[in-house]
Amino acid sequence: MTDYSPSHAELSAGAPLWLLAELTYRCPLQCPYCSNPLDFAAQDHELTTQEWIDVLHQARAMGAVQMGFSGGEPLVRKDLEELVAEARQLGFYTNLITSGLGLDEARIQALRNAGLDHIQISLQAADSDMAGALAGSSKAHARKLAMARAVKDAGYPMVLNVVLHRHNIDQIDRIIELCVELGADAVELANCQLYGWAHLNRTGLLPSKAQLDAAEAATERWRERLAGEGNDMRLLFVVPDYYAERPKACMGGWGAIFMTVTPDGTVLPCHSARDLPMTFPTVREQALRSIWYDSFAFNRFRGEAWMPAPCRSCDERHKDYGGCRCQAFLLTGDPAATDPVCALSPDHGLIETAREEAAQDVRSVAQLTPRNARESKVFCRA
Ligand code: SF4
Ligand code: SF4
Repeated sequence: MTDYSPSHAELSAGAPLWLLAELTYRCPLQCPYCSNPLDFAAQDHELTTQEWIDVLHQARAMGAVQMGFSGGEPLVRKDLEELVAEARQLGFYTNLITSGLGLDEARIQALRNAGLDHIQISLQAADSDMAGALAGSSKAHARKLAMARAVKDAGYPMVLNVVLHRHNIDQIDRIIELCVELGADAVELANCQLYGWAHLNRTGLLPSKAQLDAAEAATERWRERLAGEGNDMRLLFVVPDYYAERPKACMGGWGAIFMTVTPDGTVLPCHSARDLPMTFPTVREQALRSIWYDSFAFNRFRGEAWMPAPCRSCDERHKDYGGCRCQAFLLTGDPAATDPVCALSPDHGLIETAREEAAQDVRSVAQLTPRNARESKVFCRA
């Protein structure tokens, strides 16, 4: 029987540098590519303000320096400003990851007063018809644009995130044009990661290779054009895993630098790990330090001892750590398998099959499963 007990080297893990605080799974939007867990509706016992403050203190004492507030929509929490102020006072660099819904000029000013360092707003498409179909809200797009302008006016760097998939990727020129109009300093054009609701809808979201190549070429043309115009807006294009030959270095390695605390206090090595058939500890029952260093969950895939062939003898294992555990599980049913995205994986055929299935899927945006509480209840365990 395989011995999964962590080695001494694994137990001497470094400090968590990054803390992602998923304050809530509540959100007014219904994006079919949302990475929240399918059963989010079952997790309604959110940490209180005082419990979050305790988490911040514990994480900072362990050496964490950077933190993101996300969700769901973190602006749903009325104590967001209080938590930001506490984090800043502790010395964290703070980032708000938001849809922009729930923001207004007064709240931007309150967040500024609290010391928030950075705001990232997501856009869904170039026009309100497509954005509305994706978000399940006809008003969201206009609100996002207004808030993007207000954030810029408040003196924040304008960082926009656009999740790309087959339904909006052909709008790439118009999306970038919109970002230029808004005065963005940086734009992340991120092909959607296929976890949570995105995995549920994956054959209806994955773009074709031709779409992907055209979007990458368009992005490169925009980079040249912007450079020629002296515009230093940065364009980052993130290729979907399913078209890569090697997996991403997921979270810089399992339990290496990153941890997520979910709305109910469960602590995860990445925000998608809740999909795995494992029990994760919670800050309501265990100290964060003990969770990070001592828990079975955080040591299970730490280091290299857990790696199967071909990873364990592969020269690239220090670069990608064998890929993503969540993706390995979602595709193979085995969280300890080599990430099938890797062309060296014996399961790489699953990726090719997924691409073929996606090519046969002709669903419109309206036919995808929206991320909302009603649909989530279907996945809630009794
Ligand atoms: S992806 Fe969409 S539905 Fe999910 S949390 Fe973000 S805005 Fe809400
Ligand atoms: S075999 Fe494993 S370590 Fe090697 S490139 Fe593929 S996923 Fe990375």
